[in-house]
Amino acid sequence: MLGIVQKYKDEWIEFTREIVKIPSVTGTEGKLSEFFLKKLQDIGVKESFIDEAGNVAGVIRGKGEGPNIMFNGHLDTVPSGIASAWAPFKPFDAAIDDKGNIIGLGVSDLKAGLAVQFYVFKVLKEAIDQKKIELPGDLIFSAVVHEEPAEMLGMEYFIEKTMPEHNIKADLVFLSEPSSNDVVLGHRGKIEIVVRTQGKTAHSSQPKLGINALEKMLPIMEAVFHKMGSQLKGDPVLGESSITITDCIVKPGAMSIVPDQCEISIDRRYMPDEPLEVILGQFEDIFKELKKNDPDFKATAEPRVFKERTWTGYEKDVKKYHPPWRTDRELDFVKKTFKALKDVGQNPVEKYWKFGTDGSMTAGIHNIPTIGYSGAEEKWAHQPNEQVNINEMLKTFDGYVAIMCELMGLNINNFK
Ligand SMILES: [Zn+2]
Repeated sequence: MLGIVQKYKDEWIEFTREIVKIPSVTGTEGKLSEFFLKKLQDIGVKESFIDEAGNVAGVIRGKGEGPNIMFNGHLDTVPSGIASAWAPFKPFDAAIDDKGNIIGLGVSDLKAGLAVQFYVFKVLKEAIDQKKIELPGDLIFSAVVHEEPAEMLGMEYFIEKTMPEHNIKADLVFLSEPSSNDVVLGHRGKIEIVVRTQGKTAHSSQPKLGINALEKMLPIMEAVFHKMGSQLKGDPVLGESSITITDCIVKPGAMSIVPDQCEISIDRRYMPDEPLEVILGQFEDIFKELKKNDPDFKATAEPRVFKERTWTGYEKDVKKYHPPWRTDRELDFVKKTFKALKDVGQNPVEKYWKFGTDGSMTAGIHNIPTIGYSGAEEKWAHQPNEQVNINEMLKTFDGYVAIMCELMGLNINNFK
């Protein structure tokens, strides 16, 4: 373990426990955001702020030579579920068990990793202040709202509005999502598609007088279950594409009336070579085919859109989707990350997440190389007794210091 990690180990544990004790279910991240702002100010980061959407960030300016590196994680958690499922622990106690695990809601996904990123930021700030070290590029610490509902509202605001406003540029992003101390370079895309069919109401004692929207949906369901899935291609690295139906609503849905509206929700996982237009076009093709033999057939397919509101009152219509992304393993940033981790005795493998992240915004939409790294384990995300192992997280602390030294050209002996 690096000397600097040894020095801050206990402080990091307490910091992690403190942020787990601050509930921050999506939409209620205010207290946690303000907590981080206060901590950034306490360590003397003059350029620190909360933006209009409620994201919090701090910037340490370098010499302008680059690379500009951004640490990122989300402030929000999912709800805790039934509290008794955590017994004998509790979601917000941040207890430490006899195996050296911190247990609490959001600790794996991803407060412990975010706390490590904060501490590496703090350590570098200290080195700059005390040892007169200069960074070649900017270092940004950022924690965003609204990651969990999968529409990237917080990250989108941060990258598209806040970063230009504050003249923040990032050449590389590190996500503190759980990776078991392996190096994650991407994930599949996911989107929720809403397909609606339209019919005509009639008294259901004489169904022939109406057009039943549910009946019109049947061939589409048949196609989703038995045709579209088998035509999907996977990706040797990212995994399989998939499609299934997750919900079906029929309206008005009352006795004695033929329904004139039917809506199904489709969960579609996809690859970088499948743009959104192509995915939606596959439905249009099916509709065209059905319309040939049925002049009454009317259907639409579009991404699920709904209004979201952050804790600051910022509102936006957002799509339920996460585009796929993949960071090139041949990039110098990636090679240096692996080298740095090996130099501190770690043996990470290249991995791809099964779940979606804000990497869809940084890498998928804005093409900023993005790397996931944290000692938290993926399997604990969104589970009762969510936990991280302290020793594994201290390896992450070591790892991030080593990575920063490698990427920013600093001498690691400063931190030994
Ligand atoms: Zn997460």
